[in-house]
Amino acid sequence: MPEGHSVHRIARQFGRHFVGERISASSPQGRFAEGASLIDGRVMTDAKAVGKQMFLEFDDAVWLRVHLGIYGAWDFSGAVASAAGRMGQTGMRGASDDDVAAAPTTVVGAHEESLASIGAPRRTRLRMAEQESESALDDAALEGFPPEPIGAVRVRLLTERAVADLRGPTACEVLDAAGVQQVIDKLGPDPLIDDADAGEERMLARIRRRRVPIGLLLMDQSVVSGIGNVYRAEILFRARLDPHALGANLPEDVIRGLWRDWRYLLGVGVDTGQMLTMDGLDEEARRLALRNRADRHWVYKREGLPCRVCGTHIVMEIAAGRKLYYCPSCQV
Ligand SMILES: [Zn+2]
Repeated sequence: MPEGHSVHRIARQFGRHFVGERISASSPQGRFAEGASLIDGRVMTDAKAVGKQMFLEFDDAVWLRVHLGIYGAWDFSGAVASAAGRMGQTGMRGASDDDVAAAPTTVVGAHEESLASIGAPRRTRLRMAEQESESALDDAALEGFPPEPIGAVRVRLLTERAVADLRGPTACEVLDAAGVQQVIDKLGPDPLIDDADAGEERMLARIRRRRVPIGLLLMDQSVVSGIGNVYRAEILFRARLDPHALGANLPEDVIRGLWRDWRYLLGVGVDTGQMLTMDGLDEEARRLALRNRADRHWVYKREGLPCRVCGTHIVMEIAAGRKLYYCPSCQV
């Protein structure tokens, strides 16, 4: 399932190429025909992510809420920002040749020579879901815009230059402003939306009153927004924290540290498009980490392998139906 950084990147893609544009909305699959008719012909005025949910605002305060869930994906084509480029400005680092070399996407064919203008809008096709992948347009697709919708497209949002097709979401609904607020009120703080200090206090309060393992609380979207299975495991390792420790028993400064680390990692994730959770990497190690998941994480999907710090075998156990990875020596 896409974690918070992916959803923020998708919202920024909309912010860059759809906000301010009049949108033709349709439901090629038919299942969202009524919802699409409420949006059709309106100007998109805002695009924002809160945790794993995205909210697109249209004029007259009509909103589209989308949660991709496990199978959902957005396919962008036309003039859209490339996957390899920076779609957001977190100010953490600039695009460089290294970024281009490290880009995890498949940039093929006619696009190779345009790497110098990485991130600039160009004619391409980009899938944004749990992973991002870019593909070259074939001749037929280059000729006709917009491309024919392929497969079960729940909703298509179209401008004169760009199109976004949504497939397989868990949630896709039209809401008014009050409805959006109701959804957001149930969500824990998101470091890219909430004020840093206020968000920290909210997360602290929500963890300290729960006699529930921190490994479960970090995945609870009402406690903190946007953390999924990868970030959960990695944040706990980075804090050298036992996933089974109860929230109510954790020292205040430990919980504050979790919020601050999530804030930092989310920024890196939005910036790179990858859940890069290892620090202090030299140039080559960083390049590898951006390319391969095996070189990117402390514990996630490393069960049975030696801990990078102490050499103990990483453990995997099922917690609330999801795989939890940790080092039984470092995280005590
Ligand atoms: Zn260890």
